[in-house]
Amino acid sequence: QTVRRPLVMGNWKMHGNLQENAALLQGLLQAGFSAEEARVAVCVPAPYLAQAQALLQGSAVHWGAQNLCREPVGAFTGEVSARMLADFACRYVLVGHSERRTLFGESDHDVLQKVGQALQAGLIPVICVGETLAQHDAGTTEAVIAAQLQPLLAGLAAADWTRVVVAYEPVWAIGTGKVATPEYAQKVHAFIRAQVAEEAAEAAQGLQILYGGSVKAENAAQLQAMLDIDGALVGGASLKADEFVKICRSFR
Ligand code: PEP
Repeated sequence: QTVRRPLVMGNWKMHGNLQENAALLQGLLQAGFSAEEARVAVCVPAPYLAQAQALLQGSAVHWGAQNLCREPVGAFTGEVSARMLADFACRYVLVGHSERRTLFGESDHDVLQKVGQALQAGLIPVICVGETLAQHDAGTTEAVIAAQLQPLLAGLAAADWTRVVVAYEPVWAIGTGKVATPEYAQKVHAFIRAQVAEEAAEAAQGLQILYGGSVKAENAAQLQAMLDIDGALVGGASLKADEFVKICRSFR
């Protein structure tokens, strides 16, 4: 069986300022994460990438962005390209977060283009998928996830799947305090891995699949115990250093 190193990633969303960020990042540095523990990363708002780089460079904590432009360069006012993120030594970039999909109209095709841009710039795209409450209640979760993955499975090469991360984030669990049961999440994670395996059998075994949606210190251990849950994408609870460190340490 393939050993997948756990990955715990914070998503700050549109929170923070220079002063609060410095305190939060210092808190993470003080935890002194080692190579035997989960890999740890924070996805910060784009203006603070330089700050994250300055404070985290050389430490065990990686950083990344929350979004990128689907085009490489040009007249796209207000957008940030993959290469710009690479200039600030980002390791990761979130792609297709549910807030991007629902509030900013990102389509599965946009997601595919953005993943392509990230890969070309040497970034690791963290591809977010997940069903809404209505889709969950209608019992269509697997069909929804399959549809979100389909353009990626068709558009990416098998080898690309060794350079991406997938985050399963049921939309009804994001920021709601309603965490999916570990068993429910495990079932969807196994489904995602099986879908990827159809196109890239070997890469699917090494693919890190993170769970996201109201992960807290108190529920992290049960989630990490599941075979196909390889880490977490953490929103609200990543804004408190103590709690985020506890979540990171729950993943082994
Ligand atoms: C997220 O934003 O990806 C997320 C999972 O948020 P929260 O942990 O606050 O539910």
